[in-house]
Amino acid sequence: MSEDKIIEIKGVSKSFDGKPVVKNISFSIKRGEFVTFLGPSGCGKTTTLRMIAGLETPTEGKIFIGGKDMTDVPPHRRPVNTVFQKYALFPHLNVFNNIAFGLKLKRVPDGTEEKNGKTYELSRKLTKKEIKDKVDAALKMVDLEDYGYRNVNSLSGGQQQRVAIARALVNEPEVLLLDEPLGALDLKMRKDMQLELKNMHKQVGITFVYVTHDQEEALTMSDTIVVMRDGAIEQIASPQKIYDEPANAFVADFIGESNIFGGVMIEDFKVSFAGVTAKCVDKGFKPNEPIDLIIRPEDVYIVPRENSSAIMRAKVESTVFKGDHFQIIASVNGNEILIHDNVECKKGDEVGLFVKPSDFHIMHKARLSNEIVTEMWDTNVVEICGGRFPCFSDLPSSTKVKATIEFKDVIVHDDEDDGIIGGEVITSIYKGSYYQAVIRADNYYNFFVDTADDWLKGDRVGLSVNPDKIKIEKIEEEENGGND
Ligand code: ATP
Repeated sequence: MSEDKIIEIKGVSKSFDGKPVVKNISFSIKRGEFVTFLGPSGCGKTTTLRMIAGLETPTEGKIFIGGKDMTDVPPHRRPVNTVFQKYALFPHLNVFNNIAFGLKLKRVPDGTEEKNGKTYELSRKLTKKEIKDKVDAALKMVDLEDYGYRNVNSLSGGQQQRVAIARALVNEPEVLLLDEPLGALDLKMRKDMQLELKNMHKQVGITFVYVTHDQEEALTMSDTIVVMRDGAIEQIASPQKIYDEPANAFVADFIGESNIFGGVMIEDFKVSFAGVTAKCVDKGFKPNEPIDLIIRPEDVYIVPRENSSAIMRAKVESTVFKGDHFQIIASVNGNEILIHDNVECKKGDEVGLFVKPSDFHIMHKARLSNEIVTEMWDTNVVEICGGRFPCFSDLPSSTKVKATIEFKDVIVHDDEDDGIIGGEVITSIYKGSYYQAVIRADNYYNFFVDTADDWLKGDRVGLSVNPDKIKIEKIEEEENGGND
């Protein structure tokens, strides 16, 4: 392991009651970094943090801290301390004694003793003076120097959270784990504390691992952001890179506002989307490869309709003044595009739009169709995620097959019972003229679905497919070499 890596997560998965919530993740954290796990509620951020803390054990994989395998080491023997959203302070102790609590129990090395030819390591408790010096330094760090003798119940939420942070820092951990520590604070207090935490991180120089679902918080504070969705990592990069070069449509949608379109890379440097063909700076795609294309609203400029720089024509649908820009929604060949520009225009205006070739962010699609490896239930019935789907195939029962279903052919039902199988909506991303949802079936297969409706994340829905929209291909069993 290289010296500058303080934490290494290797192939870690975690399931609760057979339900996978973290799926084979691997990454490392550099010593001294401020790393944030960011993602929607339920994506596995807290579980990952708790596995680093030792409060959960991975179902599979290993966790190294400071080069040592800590997978089976209990929390109190790890060089980490955790700050939770709820402060969990001792109400009967004042601020000083809350912070000093751990120090009073702690033993530190105190030389060695030779006895009967053996060497014994000695330890002792910290002196009163040592404890006071450490607590005072921690109080100073969190800007509560004069608060030592205050009752913790007399403090504001923000001050209580500072005490919790001081209590963690006073143990001089190598890593401070913070689980949505500002989640219970009001907006103003949260903003102040974000900057304070960032400063604290600079001062103490230890590694901070932070969990939040607030993208702005992550962008403000982190050196590195780990974007998670549904138990997996979507991107690991600096805030700037995540914003400017999102790895896929999910990251773009989650971080800041974006226009996301499905499109086609016609050839190198030429992309087509929303009925428009435009120059771009991307190459290396297959001819006519389907892609996802992202344009940030601030990268779209309104120009006169006949201006030679206009790469598309649009009709203004709505405009709202936002203080330093207008937020304009326009339609381009039936696709909505969001624009942030200083040009004033009104509903119904016909305008031209300009986007620099380098401001098209073009990405390979994660998946082109839903492909499920399964078996025939009977002739004309295929089993998909535990449901029996009528289809057109005379292959007999138990034949191994691949069932292919286009995104647009999956039918979503409001009422789970109206579908052949049920599932949970994981994400829904607007792509200019339709929504692309990811719906997880109960066996954890994720269906990609193009639909006219915005399905609510976390909702249960039903899924069905018309029989003529399921393509069945027989999977030829590999010849067994006869070695086993
Ligand atoms: P949030 O911001 O809402 O806390 P998260 O991304 O931190 O979300 P986790 O808390 O890691 O998500 O939870 C991931 C999934 O694991 C959720 O579906 C949650 O209900 C489930 N889960 C977490 N802890 C347990 C547990 N002890 N037993 C069963 N399921 C659990």
